Amino acid sequence: TNLVVGLTGGIGSGKTTVANIFAELGIELVDADIVAREVVAIGSLGLTKIAQHFGADILNSDSTLNRAKLREHIFSKPEELEWLNALLHPIIRTEMLKQLDNTRSPYSILIAPLLFENGLDRLVDRTLLVDISPEQQRNRTKIRDSVTAEQVQKIIDSQASREDKLSKADDVIDNHGERSALRNKVVALHNNYLKLSNNT
Ligand code: ATP
Repeated sequence: TNLVVGLTGGIGSGKTTVANIFAELGIELVDADIVAREVVAIGSLGLTKIAQHFGADILNSDSTLNRAKLREHIFSKPEELEWLNALLHPIIRTEMLKQLDNTRSPYSILIAPLLFENGLDRLVDRTLLVDISPEQQRNRTKIRDSVTAEQVQKIIDSQASREDKLSKADDVIDNHGERSALRNKVVALHNNYLKLSNNT
């Protein structure tokens, strides 16, 4: 199996922007958020178990998961949240590893906003943080999502701190500069990852 790089960064840091450049360079990506949705898709084992546990009215009329209802069920019920995490986390992990194993590029990337928070850094060989200041996170997210600075701040506060992530990451991309400055930084990392993947 080849080298896997875990790509992370807080809300609005530029993960997707960076991931798109890696993809242009021919690197295959697995997105933890997408996998987390796939494992509760229509007809999935995860969704079947959820419907058995919470009752069939956890499903919408089109058999998809009613996320609002699920939130109600687990809101202020830590034991139900724990049950859900115990069900889904192993399924998500297995599926991510399977998808990473099926990639064919010289190395591959797992993109995960909560890489460190969810211990997914243990599944990868190397971690890459897209770093920006909380102020820039608020600015860029506000422009993108038309949300208030307070709403963005709540999410920032729920994620690991900038300092914590900086201390854990093997590699860091500084994304305070212009968008055009990003590409060269990504290409430099790409060349380094190619070298590393040749040595494994
Ligand atoms: P989230 O976790 O919230 O989905 P993300 O980390 O994937 O965010 P992006 O969506 O890539 O972040 O970037 C956030 C916003 O900032 C986007 O609108 C993106 O186009 C913009 N952006 C990214 N990098 C820069 C930059 N260097 N200069 C200006 N804007 C940028």
